[in-house]
Amino acid sequence: MNRATLPQPRVMVARIFHESHGFSPLPTPQDCFLVSRGDAVLSEARGSGTTLGGIISALDAAGVELMPVLSASAPPSGLVEHDFYLSLKQEILAAVKAHAPDAIALELHGAMGTTVLPDAEGDLLRDLRLAIGPDGVIGVGLDLHAHLTEAMLVASDICIACKENPHSDVVACGEKVARGILSVLDGSLRPVSTLVKIPMLLPGGNETATGPLRDLHDMARGLAAQAAGTWDISLYNVFRFLDDAGMGQAVVVTSAEGTEMSARAAASELGEAFWRKRSEFVDHLMSIDEALDHVAEHAGTTPYVLADMGDRVLAGAPGDSTAIL
Ligand SMILES: [Zn+2]
Repeated sequence: MNRATLPQPRVMVARIFHESHGFSPLPTPQDCFLVSRGDAVLSEARGSGTTLGGIISALDAAGVELMPVLSASAPPSGLVEHDFYLSLKQEILAAVKAHAPDAIALELHGAMGTTVLPDAEGDLLRDLRLAIGPDGVIGVGLDLHAHLTEAMLVASDICIACKENPHSDVVACGEKVARGILSVLDGSLRPVSTLVKIPMLLPGGNETATGPLRDLHDMARGLAAQAAGTWDISLYNVFRFLDDAGMGQAVVVTSAEGTEMSARAAASELGEAFWRKRSEFVDHLMSIDEALDHVAEHAGTTPYVLADMGDRVLAGAPGDSTAIL
């Protein structure tokens, strides 16, 4: 089918969002997830400040027919119970097979693992590609803490991340995913993704407005402006509480077909810059002894809260460390 002749694309939308802490002994069951289906997915996402909200607002503006399937999200916690993940995947696959959309637009975190599969998003996208076929368009907006894998890139046409931490630009990321999908559908964009992986985790320096990540994002913007045909450069700072093969920072340059040489050069340059800056990614945290000495010296002046960053519940840890106690 010639995509350029389609009168009004039909785009399926879905969201599965979970950052899975691979070292937590507690799996994440179904009842930890907020799940909505059908039109509730659209009403909840519109104006929600999420990537899916951005996807939907841009597709609404383009007059596209939206086909909502489901939205499932939970705060960071242990690995997702595999059968629950499979049930979500089957629900989306069944909708694709039943309605044969022209495209699928997804918000995924990108660092979700199940009790069986370390790369849940790669598995999901691979099966979605098989279901929609080679002519269907798949666009994905990820968190920049995704564990980006080759499987995710191979299966999708558009696969990009938000650019800021704190994540203040997720709506813009969603809008860009939607615009990318529409451009692929009308034939004006034929994207090719170039991936460079750097074998390092970030123990600190994770914010993008300061420090080494600000420099790297400035560099990415400069390279995007220079490298011919560049459509997007996403820098991934993988969620560090995972234990999967191929873990590390990732640079993905998405460019128009025919400009892979300059994309490869830009991605390599950014990868080398990550590596050169590896010693700058540190947070200067107090040891427990230093923190307790500080509290003792200032006793009675103010309340103190001691947080154990190695057992960080905001990142999905179980919060059961007794080290400070
Ligand atoms: Zn994140």
